[in-house]
Amino acid sequence: MTAGIESGTRWPVIRKDITGFRVRPNLVDYEAACAGFSWDEARRALSGLPGGAGLNIAYEAVDRHAAGGNASRTALRFIQADGSTHSLSFADLAQLSNRFAGVLRSLGIVRGERVFSLLGRTPGLYAAILGTLKNASVFCPLFSAFGPEPIRQRLELGEGRALVTTRALYRKKIAPLRASLPHLDHVLLTDADGNPEPGTLDLELLMGQAAPDGAIAVTLPEDMALLHFTSGTTGTPKGAIHVHDAVTAHYATGSYALDLHPGDIYWCTADPGWVTGISYGVIAPLAHGVTVIVDEEEMDADRWYRILAEQRVTVWYTAPTALRMLMKAGADRAAGHDLSALRFVASVGEPLNPEVVVWGQEALGRPVHDNWWQTETGGIMISNLAAMDIRPGSMGRPLPGVRAALVARDEQDKPIVRDGEAVLVTDPDQVGELALRPGWPSMFRGYLNEEDRYRRCFVGGWYITGDLAKRDADGYYWFVGRGDDMIKSSGHLIGPFEVESSLMEHQAVAGAGAIGVPDPVAGQVVKAFIELRPGWEASEDLRMEIIGFARKRLGTAVAPRLLDFTTALPRTRSGKILRRLLRARELGLPEGDTSTVENPPEPPTPETPPGALA
Ligand code: AMP
Repeated sequence: MTAGIESGTRWPVIRKDITGFRVRPNLVDYEAACAGFSWDEARRALSGLPGGAGLNIAYEAVDRHAAGGNASRTALRFIQADGSTHSLSFADLAQLSNRFAGVLRSLGIVRGERVFSLLGRTPGLYAAILGTLKNASVFCPLFSAFGPEPIRQRLELGEGRALVTTRALYRKKIAPLRASLPHLDHVLLTDADGNPEPGTLDLELLMGQAAPDGAIAVTLPEDMALLHFTSGTTGTPKGAIHVHDAVTAHYATGSYALDLHPGDIYWCTADPGWVTGISYGVIAPLAHGVTVIVDEEEMDADRWYRILAEQRVTVWYTAPTALRMLMKAGADRAAGHDLSALRFVASVGEPLNPEVVVWGQEALGRPVHDNWWQTETGGIMISNLAAMDIRPGSMGRPLPGVRAALVARDEQDKPIVRDGEAVLVTDPDQVGELALRPGWPSMFRGYLNEEDRYRRCFVGGWYITGDLAKRDADGYYWFVGRGDDMIKSSGHLIGPFEVESSLMEHQAVAGAGAIGVPDPVAGQVVKAFIELRPGWEASEDLRMEIIGFARKRLGTAVAPRLLDFTTALPRTRSGKILRRLLRARELGLPEGDTSTVENPPEPPTPETPPGALA
């Protein structure tokens, strides 16, 4: 294994002294919590279906609170475009989701069949998610900014029997495809207003006819509950299967990684079209019985500061892109907003550069806690914790119940296996492929209809995540890059994230992507693509200045040798830079699956702005 580059020790550790904390964190003694943890014990925090007959995510999220003396507590508070709010109590949500389950029953949609949504963040979406689970059917969200082709692909692969959407989205994206979707028997419009489109149904009308108190179908912990599509680097998207037992992990990680406490006002900015928006925008907080803020609008700095202040948000879960957008808007935008209620800020989904962690302290009064997971893990695996010192740039440590490791790779970048067991990287600060020991409840149970693809994810007793990381001597994990994005230059293994983070520290740089390009001597050299902040002009002088700046920070072996300016880096709609596409475009290679690209070459009509976050 090639030696890893030095961990980002340049940024001072953010120390925590919990004696001054307003609320005592749920996890204070990390080592003791890890040593004493068992998933069986974690399951005891849940109720299980009445009569001990099974486990259902929707019951844990809603009905047990409604039945347990918290019926009138606010479950969801919707903020509409004009800033007005309306709330649903746990009792309201229990009834709405019962009615939705009743609608599915009346349509003959049964256990295991897939119900899709293509909706904005409106009450109908939440009724659909929870009602589908109550009917023992499987919920699959689609991001409403998807174009027709990715929608068609997912509905077809998932064999969706029903779809909940709006009139406008139906007309624009579904109606033209309808004939090519033989499984799609029912389309339910949330805004049909008594006049559904031909071939669709009026959901409100059907909900009005359904009973508000129907029984929840009995589901077992291993029954399929959710299907989340994730893009592959090659081939079609993969449908990751999650089961009802995932709620055990959502609840436990909500305690540990998000530090949820009774009475919290919680805001997750992720759209429920993506896994974060379901696992941590709906299930984890509701399972804890806390109030969830739902903003129907897209990201806007002033609006977001206003929401944080006016709603007295205590726990905020967001994404690096959003934080960088806030940072770009200027710290003065936060001034004048009373953010004193904010207790804990966390971020996920892409590398969080250290300067954002520190900026959080200045602008929000709280540092940002990075955590790591992916669609396949279903829930947070590695995290910075409320009571734990933060090393800016690190993703934190594995949560109790999660066994993480770094697997060594061979010359072809394949995990090394000896005698059936993966060979682990044990020395500090060495790069390996991040792997997890199977057995946590929210682990995906398959890729729908792709048994082989699923099996290939497990090597030598470990689930291989596809990410490269380092672990320091104290057990903190540091993200290096996706396995296939790594750059090897003169024998050095270089993580693009480290290069990009460093470039991002230059005052002219708004966004950066780094890839390896072939070089006859070094094998590869680093090439950077730079988006400039407003007010900066691309020039030869600036190019040389930024390269020099990076060289100073990274050393000549690691710094980019080449640098181009660009006006739009290819990103997924959730803001991740698609280095694979940068590479393909640079080298004139096929671009592969571009269905989740925010600015793809073909026009799949993103109708929400980049602020629509995963
Ligand atoms: P997804 O399955 O779309 O949620 O993407 C998961 C991938 O996002 C991971 O495999 C990582 O490559 C990346 N990712 C998620 N969280 C982080 C993080 N905290 N730091 C760096 N990369 C992350």
